[in-house]
Amino acid sequence: MKPSTRIESNVKKTLKKIKISKREKILVALSGGKDSTVTAWLLKKFGYKIEGFHIDLKIGDYSERCLNAVKKLCKDLDIKLHVYDFKKEMGSGMCYLRSAVQSKKNLKNCAICGVIKKWILNKEARKLKADKIATGHNLDDEVQTFLMNIFKGSPELSANSGPITKNIKDKKFVTRIKPLFYVSENEIKKYSKEKKLPVVYDKCPCALDSYRIQVRKFTEKLTEKEKLNIIKNFEKLRIKTKDKKINYCKMCGEPSRKDVCKKCELMKK
Ligand code: AMP
Ligand code: ZN
Repeated sequence: MKPSTRIESNVKKTLKKIKISKREKILVALSGGKDSTVTAWLLKKFGYKIEGFHIDLKIGDYSERCLNAVKKLCKDLDIKLHVYDFKKEMGSGMCYLRSAVQSKKNLKNCAICGVIKKWILNKEARKLKADKIATGHNLDDEVQTFLMNIFKGSPELSANSGPITKNIKDKKFVTRIKPLFYVSENEIKKYSKEKKLPVVYDKCPCALDSYRIQVRKFTEKLTEKEKLNIIKNFEKLRIKTKDKKINYCKMCGEPSRKDVCKKCELMKK
């Protein structure tokens, strides 16, 4: 099978498995990078109803290039693009906010950024009445997260990972899907180049010393088959977890497992 046909049938299979309907409104979280760009491209190609959502993180020239790439993609795909101005909404650029948080809490860059992005995505997707949020997370990301949780001694943190968020049913929570869950980063890169998609290939300049980068050096040595096996074995062994009770954060009102959500916990003085 041609590599491009392979990735397309892989993603079709995932979307079928998680039962995504073509009537649903899917908000694709577009970073400007190859993964989310390919996600939007394929969802559109398969006839899903999508709109783009980009968080302009205001990290200098890098963010400007990402915004331009996302604008071009949405124009090419003829889809609506929503841009969230991070500085305007949160009071400062992501890098500045991250260093402020980092000096108070013992957390790595990307974890902080990830928590804040998820918080924004859920809130804004709900406002836009989206049925689903799609992100570009790929097989390599998932293997890294899984191993990071194991190395930290907390495998239970991976209990609910999969191509769709499960066990969270709440009117304020927008279900997230990962159409590229079973596709390797390498394949996505090749596909984006083959289709000449508007993509910013350099890494986020903020992501210099994250733990993920160390784990990535290790996973780079694995074959695609080994990566898939890690995920598939894990799925076979997965303990059935019950639906978890969702509270609302007493500071911002967003869905949260605890009294205060992860984002407000981070930003607390
Ligand atoms: P990352 O955490 O940077 O690896 O990104 C994971 C996924 O989150 C991407 O594939 C996108 O779907 C989404 N994402 C990351 N950055 C942004 C952004 N600035 N705006 C919108 N979505 C984003
Ligand atoms: Zn909160």
